[in-house]
Formats: sequence, structure tokens, C-alpha cells
Amino acid sequence: MDTAGTHKDITFAPMNFENSLSFAKALDEKDGLRHFRNEFYFPSHKGKPCYYFTGNSLGLQPKAAESAIKVELDDWKNLGVEGHFRGTNPWMYYHKFLAENAALVVGAKPIEVAVMNQLSSNLHFLFASFYRPDNRRFKVIMEAAAFPSDMYLVESQVKFHGFNPEEAIIEVKPREGEFALRNEDILQAIDEHKDQLALVFFSGVQYYTGQVFDIRGITAKAHEHGITAGFDLAHAAGNIELKLHDWDVDFAAWCSYKYLNSGPGSVAGVFINERYANDNSLPRLAGWWGHNEEERFRMLKGYKPEPGAAGWQVSNAPVLSMAVHKVSLEIFARAGMQHVVEKGRQLNAWMDFVIRDAMRSNPSLELQIITPEFPGRGCQLSLLTGENGKKLFDFMTENGVIADWRNPNVIRMAPVALYNSFEDIYHLGRILQSFK
Ligand SMILES: *Cc1c(COP(=O)(O)O)cnc(C)c1O
Repeated sequence: MDTAGTHKDITFAPMNFENSLSFAKALDEKDGLRHFRNEFYFPSHKGKPCYYFTGNSLGLQPKAAESAIKVELDDWKNLGVEGHFRGTNPWMYYHKFLAENAALVVGAKPIEVAVMNQLSSNLHFLFASFYRPDNRRFKVIMEAAAFPSDMYLVESQVKFHGFNPEEAIIEVKPREGEFALRNEDILQAIDEHKDQLALVFFSGVQYYTGQVFDIRGITAKAHEHGITAGFDLAHAAGNIELKLHDWDVDFAAWCSYKYLNSGPGSVAGVFINERYANDNSLPRLAGWWGHNEEERFRMLKGYKPEPGAAGWQVSNAPVLSMAVHKVSLEIFARAGMQHVVEKGRQLNAWMDFVIRDAMRSNPSLELQIITPEFPGRGCQLSLLTGENGKKLFDFMTENGVIADWRNPNVIRMAPVALYNSFEDIYHLGRILQSFK
């Protein structure tokens, strides 16, 4: 299947795995990132740390989070409003302390990244600038069965501009009997609708199937026809290799609480290509925090944006949630995104192997892995279950596995490079083998 993903630049050599505890331990022994596991808290199950595979939904808490928040609370307690300038990390500039490390995660220049707001709200702000339909070009092309927030986003944006969603939204669907989209079908659909498309908008990693989309190829195809290309990277940021600048993506947005471990509902990030850094012709929904920094407190009329993505900021920095995001991004910077991606792929390959081995030996497991093969996957695996799917899921939960159930019948699991071990996955396999 042609689901050419975005990982071409990171080599991945499949290994000859052996399903044993000693083999899992040997893999952990060789893992250069293994020490990072100690920097996170694991929820417990019957007094033991659970097997946590839902980093795709809510990443675990970095142990440094609490003290990072405490620093800001103390500055607030001791300095009051003066914390904006005299704080340990002066709040006035807080957003600037994050852009550089966030840029490393998504393969961007710091000027192309701003940490602000939350994901769905950011997408609306980005659409305000980059979805500019006219009577000829007004359509948006996206994957069918996208994450609900994205469906509502596009539907409401199209209506906001006075168009009919039925007509203006083109959805690309998997072929009959298939779960993933074929890359060639996406590109062909863009070709087919090119004269009426105002925007190409896909996710980076499909939340349900775990499919990695070819961001570079989709962007190139859109640009071939002069169409803007934007991406929702909720399940991609901190998981797969991203090179947003080199791939020439126009805009993207992501949240920080999934693979980026920054806590529930934490502050999000946006990418806006450097070519728009000083483009004041784009419409924007503006607020004071995007205004030119020198003049921000002069309280004058007339919006003058900061250069780059910072010029899309609206409100002042939510420091308490940014404090956690800051320590999380520092962990990524120390680990190196390339290493995170490589280990994520190895964990995924090992999990795939262990699950298939359990399926061979245990006929009660009615499972089908619906995530495409590399390079069409990151670290997530989606398992289509049979009649007894919910029973299996409950059995896993009782045995200390935290996975995630998605209606109608999919179990999603994502082993995460920064805190999951190969041994975690070995135990998952044992639990699956014992299901009756
Ligand atoms: C998780 C997720 C969201 C969540 O949006 P919030 O605004 O952070 O609540 C949006 N889109 C996708 C694709 C997601 O996976």
C-alpha cells in the first residue's frame, strides 16, 4: 500500500525479535533514553506502576512539573504584578522561553513558532488568516472521519464564510475494505478539485488509525496548484519526525498534553511559515500580545504585529500551564527529537511483534492491526477488535494496562519513547496471552 509517510529521513532497520523477558530487558539495556523514564510519574494499579500506553491521549506528568509551577506561584505570592518584570522567568516574556524548544520538536525556525491558546482555538485563528475563500475557490479538502473538533472547525468556518458545508467540504475516504487512506488517493483528490480548493487541511497522524500522512507530499501537491496547506499535528508533535520548515508547510497547530506531556488542557503551539513573518496583508484576529513588543504598553490604536508566529498571539501568556510546557520541552531538547522518533519506532515494532505473537498463540484474541506499516505509522498502534473487544479491554484494564477504547471497536495504544520500556510491552504481551 502506498502510504508513504514522513519518516524517510530516519532509517529504521527491523530487528529479529524474540518474545522473552530477557530479550526485552536487553533492549532496555541498550536504550539510550531509558533514564528519562525516571523523570515521570506513573499512575499505579494495585500498588504497582501500571503499563501506561495512553501517552497519545494524555502524556504522563514530568516530576519537574510541580516545582516549575511552584516557582511561578512563589513569584506571584512574593512579587504580585511585579512578577511580569522581576520574576524568576519574567512573565512579560514567558512565551519567548518556549519557542526555541518547541521549534525543535516540529522542525521549524523559532520565528515560525508561537506557544499560545489551545489547539482548536488556534486552528480557528489560523483559518481566519489562511482560509480565504472566494466564489471560485472556496473548498476545503480533509480526511473523512477526522477528529471531531476538526470536523466542527471546518464545518463552522465554511458556514462562517457563507458557504454550504455539503458542497464546500471534500472528504477523502479509505477504499472499500481498507482502513487507511492511500497517499495516491489524497493527491488525486487534490488534483481533481484543484480549481475550487481554497485549503488543504489534514492531520499529521490520524487519531483513530494511527496513520502517518505524507505531509511533505501533500503540501507539495497543494502548492503545485497554488493552494494553501495546513495540518493538525495533535498526534504528530512529539511522536514522528516533522520538518515543517523544509517541507514548506504553510501553517500547523498542535496541543501539548498528548505526546508533549504538559498536562490536561495545557497551552498549545502553532507554526506559521517564515514567508508570512512580515506579511501584514493577511487578515488576522488580533489581540494585544501579538502587537509589536516595544509598543505593546503604549496602548495606541492601530495593530502592528510582531514579526513571525508571535504576531498571531492574542492574549497574555498563561504562565502556570506554560511552566509545565517549558519543563516538558526541555526534556525533549535534552533527549533529542531524532532519538525520540527512533525509539518510538522501535517500541512500536516491538509492540507489533509481541501482539502478533500473542494473537498466534491465543485464539481468543480477535484482533486486527489497522495501523499501516512503516513509514505509515508513528508509535501508535490501533487494534480493531472482534465481538469480545470490550471484554478484552476491561481485562487489560484489570491487569494494569492503561490503553484507550474508541467507539465503535478500536483499542489504541501508544508506547512513548520518553517513559515506556520494552519490558512494559513484554508484560502487555503476557497479559494478552492470558485472556480467555
Ligand atoms: C486531541 C485533538 C484535538 C483536541 O483539541 P483541543 O482544542 O486541545 O481540545 C483536536 N484535534 C485533534 C486531531 C486531536 O487529536
